[in-house]
Amino acid sequence: MGLTPAAGATGREGRPVADLMEAVTSLAKRRGIAFQSSEIYGGLRSSWDYGPLGVELKNNVKRAWWRSVVQLREDIVGIDAAVIMSPKVWEASGHLEVFADPLVECLNCHQRFRADHLAGAKAPQSGHEEDETMADEANAVYLRPETAQGTFVDFAAVQQVSRKKVPFGIAQIGKSFRNEITPGNFIFRMREFEQMELEFFVKPGTDERWHEYWIAERLRWYVDLGVRWENLRLRQHEPDELSHYAKRTVDVEYRFPFTEWGELEGIANRTDYDLKAHAERSGVDLTYFDQDGDARYFPFVIEPAAGVDRALLAFLIDAYREEEAPTAKGDSEKRVVLALHKDLAPIKAAVLPLSRTERLVPEARRVFDLVKTGWMCDYDDAGGGLRLVGGSTGHRARARLHAPGPDLYRQAHRLRE
Ligand code: ATP
Repeated sequence: MGLTPAAGATGREGRPVADLMEAVTSLAKRRGIAFQSSEIYGGLRSSWDYGPLGVELKNNVKRAWWRSVVQLREDIVGIDAAVIMSPKVWEASGHLEVFADPLVECLNCHQRFRADHLAGAKAPQSGHEEDETMADEANAVYLRPETAQGTFVDFAAVQQVSRKKVPFGIAQIGKSFRNEITPGNFIFRMREFEQMELEFFVKPGTDERWHEYWIAERLRWYVDLGVRWENLRLRQHEPDELSHYAKRTVDVEYRFPFTEWGELEGIANRTDYDLKAHAERSGVDLTYFDQDGDARYFPFVIEPAAGVDRALLAFLIDAYREEEAPTAKGDSEKRVVLALHKDLAPIKAAVLPLSRTERLVPEARRVFDLVKTGWMCDYDDAGGGLRLVGGSTGHRARARLHAPGPDLYRQAHRLRE
């Protein structure tokens, strides 16, 4: 049931597509993969909704990550922490200094303003001066800019309940939010997006080796899911671009059509910065007791941090093909094919009966009822041909079944197996 790139495929590897980004964005809209949010009100810049096929594709991206990082490993467990956490978390992590736009409230008119917008000015309605405003600290909660802090603050609890020994990891998938100054390029950069983050806790001194391990593992994940080598590269951060917590960071980059190279994922050696900071601020001991070495220490953290939306965009772009296909009249037409890896394909099989005859329809439905228990499948009796299709979103048909009967069920069963 594997989906291989169609013969004569064009797109990125054959005939160049004039504007690949435009082609992918427009396909995504036409096929219900992703489209602008709040569109009936004119849309909201850089907010996107995933449609029926998009949500399946996105779930499959997350599932593929979870399978590779959690399910197939004994040394990693998953969690799902809250988006909104105690503001103290962000003080300790060092984020507050960089992402806070402090709000002030006029004590008289109770209007709220960004402090930097009001500096030296008066509240517009009441005309009160800045010093008559108060910081809104007590009520401030923040939308998280990364999932990682939820993992760090839960580190001791998760280690205890899972009884994992260092080296071990905690994985998490969830929404993150950033005040991006230049959001854009479809789902590449948004203010609300989703991350797949692994925090892998290791013994200090072994961190550099584990860092190399995770760089290779994460690169392999994209390649295993069909992204072509030539469109991927690794790039190490220069010292002046390193985050405040990082000792070394290497990005997995993809050759996006709108930029030379764009980040898909950052793999950082976060040292023991975060656990130490939270231990200091909270007063809770977040060291790990290593029974083998009879020693207590703060583990170092290797963090592969990937974006669900960016990965999905790269998979879409890499899978996009335009090919010439013969028409019934004997000439040819342009056909768009998404040659997605089978694990990512939103629809795994479709049952497409040729006609709505009394004999065919019940049998086609029986086939559909059989295959839908295994995966997301599609049933559509509007088009021509009783066809059982293993594949993807873009177009119908390869494995063609001409008539109902035992042969069809054998094929359906084989497909399930
Ligand atoms: P960039 O340099 O592109 O702003 P970053 O280095 O800030 O990204 P990280 O903090 O390393 O990104 O976040 C990990 C991953 O989360 C990124 O590699 C990316 O895939 C995803 N990501 C980060 N910001 C966004 C965003 N605004 N929209 C969509 N995905 C994002």
